[in-house]
Amino acid sequence: MRFHQNYCTFAGKNETRDRYITMSKVIIIGCGGVGTVCAHKCAQNPDVFNEIVIASRNRAKCDAVARAIGKPNITTDQVDADDVDQLVALLERHRPDMVINLALPYQDLTIMEACLKCGVHYLDTANYEPRDEAHFEYSWQWAYRERFEQAGLTAILGCGFDPGVSGVYTAYAAKHHFGEMHTLDIVDCNAGNHGKAFATNFNPEINIREITQKGRYWENGKWVETGALEIHKPLTYPMIGPRESYLMYHEELESLVINFPTIKRARFWMTFGEEYLTHLRVIQDIGMASIEPINYHGMEIVPLQFLKAVLPNPQDLGVNYTGETSIGCRISGTDKEGKPLTYYIYNNCDHHKAYEETGMQAVSYTTGVPAMTGAMMFLKGLWKKPGVHNVEEFDPDPFLEVLNKQGLPWHEQFNIDLEA
Ligand code: NDP
Repeated sequence: MRFHQNYCTFAGKNETRDRYITMSKVIIIGCGGVGTVCAHKCAQNPDVFNEIVIASRNRAKCDAVARAIGKPNITTDQVDADDVDQLVALLERHRPDMVINLALPYQDLTIMEACLKCGVHYLDTANYEPRDEAHFEYSWQWAYRERFEQAGLTAILGCGFDPGVSGVYTAYAAKHHFGEMHTLDIVDCNAGNHGKAFATNFNPEINIREITQKGRYWENGKWVETGALEIHKPLTYPMIGPRESYLMYHEELESLVINFPTIKRARFWMTFGEEYLTHLRVIQDIGMASIEPINYHGMEIVPLQFLKAVLPNPQDLGVNYTGETSIGCRISGTDKEGKPLTYYIYNNCDHHKAYEETGMQAVSYTTGVPAMTGAMMFLKGLWKKPGVHNVEEFDPDPFLEVLNKQGLPWHEQFNIDLEA
């Protein structure tokens, strides 16, 4: 990390004290719901984030967020993050310690390239996805391991909530409670109500690509494929009650089963309401979820991208959003003494409280706060490890300590019915 050695003078009552402080600068790329929350949270921690630059395709959005936060240490810039040269110029202009990538998964590789060229550390919240194929896996980003290691740079992958906190929770369970973990169920419930007939809680294009994919889970050393949202059952969420939960593939399963090889079965569940699923089915049936370009009056358009343009903007949902999200990990196995153990660690987040603090709903909040926390871990030297790493490879303790104080407190339950 590049430390600016700034010489400061502290004047006490009867004494003058001199000391060195370290300074750090981050660039947040992407200024949607998640980028906005992350900028707010970085600004709330000026002792760690001394300078913050928000850069996105549309600079006016960054300016509006910077104005709303109203702190002198925030500046803005413009970049097309699909273009490595533009990214390199951005990083050269600002010389940050770390890029917090909160643009879309399509930009992960170009931003990683630029970080390597400029000697800048990297963090993101979603793994790379090629634009023309709704397919996500870590192989593209893991291929950068050696180059980051040789450059002495740290890349932290998937540091939102899921992926992100879900991996940190699992690492915490392994460190403190389990001798061996055997089953892992990541459970993600949004019991909020935004009052719209149909809207997605984060980027609609990315969200619909994810949900309409085939399901997949890990069992006895191999992946088992299912139809999209084919397997479902009610699961009970704290303070919420039972909600129909659907088995989906989710990216953190890929790294977790490698980093915790005693896990025999790993699954991911997400809740959806009937109304949402009906709309989704119609959208698919009429071809609007397609990513194949079509010719419309001489213009090439991608139906799903057009749909995104007419759907409600997730950033505007916060104002009337009520209810909570509840995301956690349900784990079974044996404890440090070899006795059977079931364990549930989770956070509930209130949409309205998130909105009051940052102007964004809880789905953006639960992603932006962990992104800030991961960057803080790196800047404090606690998660500094050259190479490309998933979050569960780092010490979970300081991360969870900060998360508790930054608006995402977590809770544990032992030896309960996991409903698995
Ligand atoms: P939004 O669509 O609200 O925001 C994306 C931002 O990226 C926009 O500001 C957009 O600019 C900008 N952007 C897009 N393309 C480019 C480009 N080529 N160059 C520069 N900027 C660009 O998405 P969200 O904030 O909801 O999500 C952000 C990320 O967080 C996504 O990758 C998403 O997958 C991830 N995520 C992760 C979660 C987790 O728990 N791990 C949960 C939720 C989201 P413009 O406004 O001009 O379009």
